[in-house]
Amino acid sequence: AARELGRAELMAEAGVAAPAIRAASRTKPYDYLIVGAGFAGSVLAERLTSQLGKRVLLVDRRPHVGGNAYDEKDAGGVLMHKYGPHIFHTNSEEVFRYLSQFTKWRPYEHRVLACVKSGLHVPMPINRTTLNMLYGVNLSTDAEAEAFLASRAEPVEKIRSSEDVVVSQVGRELYETFFRGYTRKQWGMDPSELDKAVTARVPTRTNTDDRYFTDKFQSMPLDGYTRMFENMLDQKGLTIELGVEYEDVRDEADFDRLIFTGPVDEYFDHRFGKLPYRSLRFRHETLDQEWFQPVAVVNYPDEAVPYTRVSEYKHMTGQASRRTTVTYEYPSAEGDPYYPVPRPENQALYKKYEALALDTPEVLFVGRLATYRYYNMDQVTGQALATFRRIAEREGRAVIQ
Ligand code: FAD
Ligand code: UDP
Repeated sequence: AARELGRAELMAEAGVAAPAIRAASRTKPYDYLIVGAGFAGSVLAERLTSQLGKRVLLVDRRPHVGGNAYDEKDAGGVLMHKYGPHIFHTNSEEVFRYLSQFTKWRPYEHRVLACVKSGLHVPMPINRTTLNMLYGVNLSTDAEAEAFLASRAEPVEKIRSSEDVVVSQVGRELYETFFRGYTRKQWGMDPSELDKAVTARVPTRTNTDDRYFTDKFQSMPLDGYTRMFENMLDQKGLTIELGVEYEDVRDEADFDRLIFTGPVDEYFDHRFGKLPYRSLRFRHETLDQEWFQPVAVVNYPDEAVPYTRVSEYKHMTGQASRRTTVTYEYPSAEGDPYYPVPRPENQALYKKYEALALDTPEVLFVGRLATYRYYNMDQVTGQALATFRRIAEREGRAVIQ
């Protein structure tokens, strides 16, 4: 028979701590309050409790752990990434070894196709196959492809912007085909206004390697990211409160030190003005068919198409299902902060916040939003591990990672 669930049970079902639990957990004394249960906050929560025996209260405004890497099964039973496709790759043995304590892995090499204006699907990053398909040529060696690109590349005296970096390598036509429209959609500004580091994330190749990444370690957590976070956060001395704003625990909770992994400008009440972050709107669709597209991600560089890319999770997760789930990404100025926007004026504004952060030694700022860096998951993990090492050193404690 159906039964009425109490408020506490309902909230527990939604993954949100009930008020009674909250009140009790906040009155305990904690060594650390950590704001944000993404990679930055969770790695630090795990290290501080398991290695130094600290008492930690970890809070997140979202009703789940994992930050932007959170995944869950949707109504159709397909494991999907709520905040867009997350592919793990790293060259850092330390980071890979660290995370391997909390998950087994599924080897996965990411491949992306770009759907160009003519409807042709070609490998992205640009490689020899891309050139052969696009131009109907038959470049058969690296040297031939290199000469082909060199004949199109435009010399740029000082490479500053995201336009310069591509045009100087492949010329204007390929830049327009693959980069200009995509970047204008993704960032809401022209590549000429963005730091070179943005498009430089995507290499150009003269061989036929069609993998998106060439890192030494490339794999997906076998049972998903959320499960990996749950294993990481299963620690004695760690209390987790979800669906909770920092503002709402700040005065109530009893803690010595604070680690903040949200947007740094928000922490300082936007004292110097808002730091720009780019957002996305996700359209998730579960389809009653086994597959939707040939690879995990198809990019749409054509500016006339309103979304930037479509991701199909089963390619990444290896899940067998007769249904499939895809996500369309629509970039937007409003919404949750997902990407810091790398350009000189934003960096200058961030520097002001960074100086303020350095003047606030009782608070540590860690992660993609708190240090305003376009970091991947492995880089944030590495940053959190380095922060932990500094904490341990300060306390004169030797640690093994
Ligand atoms: P987050 O994951 O953003 O976590 C911060 C948490 O803090 C959030 O959960 C937030 O709710 C919480 N929070 C903030 N402020 C407050 C507050 N005031 N009170 C309470 N809680 C608060 N990286 C890769 O390596 N590979 C990929 O393929 C990849 N794909 C990506 C795709 C997209 C669409 C996006 C947006 C990012 C992608 N990334 C990828 C980057 C990856 O998401 C980040 O590197 C990583 O999640 C950053 O972790 P973090 O802990 O710094 O921040
Ligand atoms: N980019 C592009 N066309 C593409 C892929 C990427 O113009 O087909 C540019 C775009 O500016 C993008 C940046 O390169 O924001 C970095 O791409 P990446 O795939 O690393 O983006 P992320 O996965 O971080 O969103």
